[in-house]
Amino acid sequence: MSLIDRVLLGPGPSSPYPEATAALAAPLLGHLDPEFLRILDETCDRLRTVFQTANRRTLPLSGTGSIGMEAAFANTVQPGDTAVIAVNGLFGQRMVEVASRYGATVVPVEHDWGQPVDTDKVLDAHPNPKIVAAVHAETSTGVRSDIGTLGKAVHDRNPDALVIADCVTSLAGIPIAADEWGIDIAYSGTQKCLGVAPGLSPFTVSERAWEHRNPKPPTWYLDLGLIGDYVSGTAAGGRTYHHTAPVAMIASLHAALGRILEEGLDAVFERHRAAGERLQAGLQDLGLELFAAEGHRLPELTTVKVPDNVDGTKIRHQLLADYNIEIGAGAGAFATSVWRIGLMGHNARLDRAELVLAALARLL
Ligand SMILES: *Cc1c(COP(=O)(O)O)cnc(C)c1O
Repeated sequence: MSLIDRVLLGPGPSSPYPEATAALAAPLLGHLDPEFLRILDETCDRLRTVFQTANRRTLPLSGTGSIGMEAAFANTVQPGDTAVIAVNGLFGQRMVEVASRYGATVVPVEHDWGQPVDTDKVLDAHPNPKIVAAVHAETSTGVRSDIGTLGKAVHDRNPDALVIADCVTSLAGIPIAADEWGIDIAYSGTQKCLGVAPGLSPFTVSERAWEHRNPKPPTWYLDLGLIGDYVSGTAAGGRTYHHTAPVAMIASLHAALGRILEEGLDAVFERHRAAGERLQAGLQDLGLELFAAEGHRLPELTTVKVPDNVDGTKIRHQLLADYNIEIGAGAGAFATSVWRIGLMGHNARLDRAELVLAALARLL
């Protein structure tokens, strides 16, 4: 079977939207070409729409999703600041690690894997933190957390606290309303529901976070004060060079966002919901047990327990060799006991759900 036909249903990268792939093959523009700058401006506008924000500082950072996490903490933490971080999977753990490296005093709030973030537990962890951070869609467990309730509750109690939300696997897959939910910094990645190759991290910053930022982060490359002058222009209206924008990736993200907004955000969410629901019902019909807590399951990333007496690794390899379908292993302690199946972006379709169900039924 040809590699061109490979169906990527892992936790990411997922198969990109055809529009995103086509844009990668277009003639390359210079990073200060007026046509490229138009595409960049429009990409930032489109990101405001998908994040549901009016934040002026909304832009794609150069790097994968983790660079957004890194930039979020690098630009907000000053040594000794308290950061309360909800941990209900691998990416919450990564936030703890990153925030600590920038000098935060981290208060981790541990949850069982497979469970959503508990707002009361997070609020009870510290009376007056500078930062409260959580993952919206935990890709390691397939769980969705209620960031809207968390964000509003944090600001009701402490208007100056900064809420950081990891939206890597939620952006353009399930609804996000950054402004309404009181999110101060949200970041994402291109290779999940946005349906682009990995390489950019869509990022947005509120005015509150801007006022309370670290004015001189210990990283030059991720200093938002410097990047912003290039992406949004200086106060005087000019653009100053910071680093060469990854022009081909930005053109690809621009095309995927165009496709998503043309289809309509609500239609895109509904497509993810329908595909995920079909997959999860079908897996249960096969006698399999889902891992994520009921009522908190992501449509775009399904976690399912590997049945007893089944070699989960062997089945994954057979799916790849015989059907050209890639699904993911579990994460952390669940590496061999759970499979992760993504239906993200271009793959969030009933035909993809039926394809993986049929292949799994054969192999099991
Ligand atoms: C994938 C992912 C990341 C990291 O993104 P990379 O592109 O691998 O750097 C962070 N958080 C979540 C929730 C993710 O799913």
